[in-house]
Amino acid sequence: MRHIAVLGATGSIGSSALDVIARHPDRLRASVLAAGRQVDALVTLCVRHAPQHAVIADPALFASLRDGLADAGLRTQAHAGDEALQQLVAGDACDTVVAAIVGAAGLPSTLAAARAGKRLLLANKESLVLAGELLTAIARDAGATIIPIDSEHNAIFQCLPSTRELNGTHAGLRRILLTASGGPFRGHAREQLLEVTPAQAIAHPKWSMGPKISVDSATLMNKGLEVIEAHHLFGLPGDRIDVLVHPQSLVHSLVEFVDGSMLAQLGLPDMRTALAVGLAWPERVESGVAGLDLLAQGRLDFEPPDPDAFPCLRLAYAALDAGGTAPAILNAANEIAVSAFLQGQVGFLSIPALVEDALAALPPVPATSLDVLRDADARARRHTSSSLSRHP
Ligand code: NAD
Ligand code: MG
Repeated sequence: MRHIAVLGATGSIGSSALDVIARHPDRLRASVLAAGRQVDALVTLCVRHAPQHAVIADPALFASLRDGLADAGLRTQAHAGDEALQQLVAGDACDTVVAAIVGAAGLPSTLAAARAGKRLLLANKESLVLAGELLTAIARDAGATIIPIDSEHNAIFQCLPSTRELNGTHAGLRRILLTASGGPFRGHAREQLLEVTPAQAIAHPKWSMGPKISVDSATLMNKGLEVIEAHHLFGLPGDRIDVLVHPQSLVHSLVEFVDGSMLAQLGLPDMRTALAVGLAWPERVESGVAGLDLLAQGRLDFEPPDPDAFPCLRLAYAALDAGGTAPAILNAANEIAVSAFLQGQVGFLSIPALVEDALAALPPVPATSLDVLRDADARARRHTSSSLSRHP
């Protein structure tokens, strides 16, 4: 029996993970559920999944979680705060952790899972962007298995042979091709993006996701973060990680070997497939996702990304190239810019402008420790918050 901590349980990935877990009561059990601030939704999930522990990030909400669980007649123990979450993730209550908190807020619990040698189903790409070298080194030393849940990286994980060379690179791998849906504004010229609204930006054509990653998909920053994520997971430099726009979102990514062979993973755009892969690996279990009817789908198209309308992709490659704290600065500036866009404070094109501004204003330094990265993250957040008024 696998005992699973689902972090970000009330979110889009969290609910997909719980859906797969509930299909396999004989082998999968949700033992820890954690959320940010949604107490009622968390209690409802506890009624359905009866975990041993429930954690709410905001300490001010502890009493309402505790009372909510008691009122529902549950024996689930209530906890609050980051410290409690890290202890539970590292402790005996779970052997597997679904890291699906959104943003850099997911880093401490992701690191705790890696340090404790857990099977880590990593959806929280921001923690790899922010501290990829550290996180992968800690996981390696502690014997933690990282299974990427991001659909592209999960596809690559499925396409690569399981043998890895000692330095973490894959023998014979020439390059990785990440596919991108192109988001809701694919085909738009830069001028057409001036007036787009948050509601338009989060209406993704193919995937149903949380608001932050939906905006990231619309700016292509999501693909930029995924390039950095792929670099850390698969050990390739940026110039061997390409991006292909594929509007049908059926080919989830491809790998190319030195002999000219290419492998791709296909399936319907539903995150339960990646989660089932991670939960059962190396076995396969049902995920609730139907097979792909290629005849019904008809065609698969591919096109290059438009660098003019979507500069975030270029900024992410540049941050990966610059190294050190640059990806952490990129990520933090993006989180602040996206949140300001969602609140109607800045326009869509201000997102890349704010990220570029932060990267130019804060020169990267070597990422020698977690403290250095946290400091870069904090400085980029402050810088970007104070730049908002200059970017309408
Ligand atoms: P979401 O907004 O739907 O859910 C986020 C979850 O995180 C919620 O449960 C929320 O309560 C929790 N949370 C937020 N702040 C927290 C904090 N400080 N402490 C603890 N919990 C906190 O987001 P999502 O779409 O499920 O995405 C989650 C992560 O997975 C992101 O990093 C995203 O990039 C990644 N991801 C998502 C998808 C997808 O299809 N949704 C695909 C690939 C990768
Ligand atoms: Mg993805």
